Amino acid sequence: MSFLFVSDHLALDFAATVAWRATHPKELLAEPGDFARWAVEAGVVDRLDTVTQDDLDHARALREAIYRLARAATAEEPADPEDVTRIRQAAAHTPVRPALHDLGRVARRGGVPEVLATLATCASDLFGGPDRLLVRRCAGTPCTRLFLDRSRAGTRRWCDKRSCGSRINAAAYRRRSGRSEQA
Ligand SMILES: [Zn+2]
Repeated sequence: MSFLFVSDHLALDFAATVAWRATHPKELLAEPGDFARWAVEAGVVDRLDTVTQDDLDHARALREAIYRLARAATAEEPADPEDVTRIRQAAAHTPVRPALHDLGRVARRGGVPEVLATLATCASDLFGGPDRLLVRRCAGTPCTRLFLDRSRAGTRRWCDKRSCGSRINAAAYRRRSGRSEQA
């Protein structure tokens, strides 16, 4: 299965690797290899060869800290100082540094600590700056994905119009037209 990248922010896409958090949480980083695949698909690193269970535990802990702080950014809950510390500590490591080789050719090399540092750096920029005020939760049910609302009018409601948005619109249409909702 491919991962979705629709949050308009790397840290929020990372937080979304647990789906349907409110109803029936699904862990998308079930095995160490899943985290390697996510990091490559996210474009953080070209390849991530060795990921241990310990690495995966660290990655998930950072992800949960990011998720909780993102929720705090939407004023749904207060920011936990432990989450802030975790992100700061992960960001203290050297992140993946892009090495430019030619037009359109860049190498991104690193291991798990570099990848986590990249994600933590990205999260620090988000939560430490004004973009934190643009964090929204998808209006789709049971979707719990957080995203950045970069729309000019500030009216983005769905993580992905083609999935969540169209499903909601179809359900609303059926309700309005008095037809029963079908699966
Ligand atoms: Zn959604």
